[in-house]
Amino acid sequence: MIVMKFGGSSVESAAAIDRVAAIVKSRLERHPVVVVSAMGKTTNRLLALARQAVEGGRAAALADLAALKQYTLAEGGPVGGAVEAHFRELAELVQGLSVLGELTPRSIDAISAYGERLSSLIVAERFRAAGLDAVQADSRDYVITDGRHTQAAPLYPETYELLSARLAPIARERVVVVGGFIGSTAAGVTTTLGRGGSDFSASIIGAGLDAEEIQIWTDVDGMLTCDPRIAEVGHRVKIISFGEAAELAYFGAKVLHPSTVLPAVEKNIPVLILNSRRPEVEGTRIVAETVACGNAFKAIACKQGIVSVHIRSLRMLMAHGFLRRIFEVFDRYTTPVDMVTTSEVSVSLTIDTVQNLDPILTELREFADVAVEQDQAIVCMVGDNIGTTRGIAGRVFQAMNGINIRMISQGASNLNLSFVIAGRDLKHAVELLHQAFFSDLDPAVFDPKGSAAA
Ligand code: ASP
Ligand code: MG
Repeated sequence: MIVMKFGGSSVESAAAIDRVAAIVKSRLERHPVVVVSAMGKTTNRLLALARQAVEGGRAAALADLAALKQYTLAEGGPVGGAVEAHFRELAELVQGLSVLGELTPRSIDAISAYGERLSSLIVAERFRAAGLDAVQADSRDYVITDGRHTQAAPLYPETYELLSARLAPIARERVVVVGGFIGSTAAGVTTTLGRGGSDFSASIIGAGLDAEEIQIWTDVDGMLTCDPRIAEVGHRVKIISFGEAAELAYFGAKVLHPSTVLPAVEKNIPVLILNSRRPEVEGTRIVAETVACGNAFKAIACKQGIVSVHIRSLRMLMAHGFLRRIFEVFDRYTTPVDMVTTSEVSVSLTIDTVQNLDPILTELREFADVAVEQDQAIVCMVGDNIGTTRGIAGRVFQAMNGINIRMISQGASNLNLSFVIAGRDLKHAVELLHQAFFSDLDPAVFDPKGSAAA
């Protein structure tokens, strides 16, 4: 059995869904279970009209709902009474919200869950029209979560039990189509796993079904050796470890959220990233064990719009509690710190939001001198050979050819070597590093022809 997950853009139109049907058909002998996101931008549209409804824009919200219905029916094809009924319920919800004038996390989940409830119905119906023996299943009957609405966490033992006892027998006989993103509490209240949660659903469902593989179908060819938004020089990475993939994801590689693969990691199930517009490309395979590789790195990740904060206090010479005091300030303003470097009397760190910067600086200045640099970037060289390759840091900084480096971090995870540079140097730095480390490629790990698609 395999799990095949298709994101919003893969099911955004009739033509896209038909492409998906053809891909599923070509893998029927592996007993696919299909997990789908809401069609196109449906989730955003549902959330926007819910907000409109509570802010006094009832008529506008209902008009948007009508437009969403029109899009859904136009692209979904003839789908029968269930879809109509879903839109009637949605209209009632919108009316109810506008009367209440309040949007709770619980009602956000109730509304946004319709995206995947609709898409799974529609995709199953179109699959049948394409000759597949498909049946829709409601993930709320299988994925049981806690009650933290909009960010619910699965209750694994209950969920795995339901998946293996109830869903597996159906999936052995027919092509099950199930909506991602949604679940329910043990009491039956609808929940969601957080935005972009369908990948997580695929991983949970794959783990519960003991699938041999989890396929995440997107609109890119897989993970690349560098971010195409920064420089178009990347090659496709054919195989990468979970740890390396997670490092890339932390640094904004849009392909996959790191927490989504955890259930798969725990059961040692490989996760594949594939392109639904180019199904012949073999994609990226993410595996539990480390991947032997002739290159020092698997990829270069980066993050722009970083703020560096440099904190220095001579009073802290030989004193203790300095770090605690600093981090307490960031904690009070719920501002995550990304990178940290320290010396005896000074600490530099980076944050990726300026939202609470002013009050943070005011508090820090009560006990330290503080300097701030905006428009910085983090470059993160990812690979699990770093800890054991001699001279690797020297080679990295040599390749940078004089670009000024403001902070360096290595050793915390053994999987990355990261540093901070000025944002305006980023593109040039990435190109130089890519040239130095990805010109001569290990053919077992990289596909030199692979590039970003779509
Ligand atoms: N439809 C949900 C969202 O847009 C879940 C997903 O697409 O993965 O966040
Ligand atoms: Mg998505």
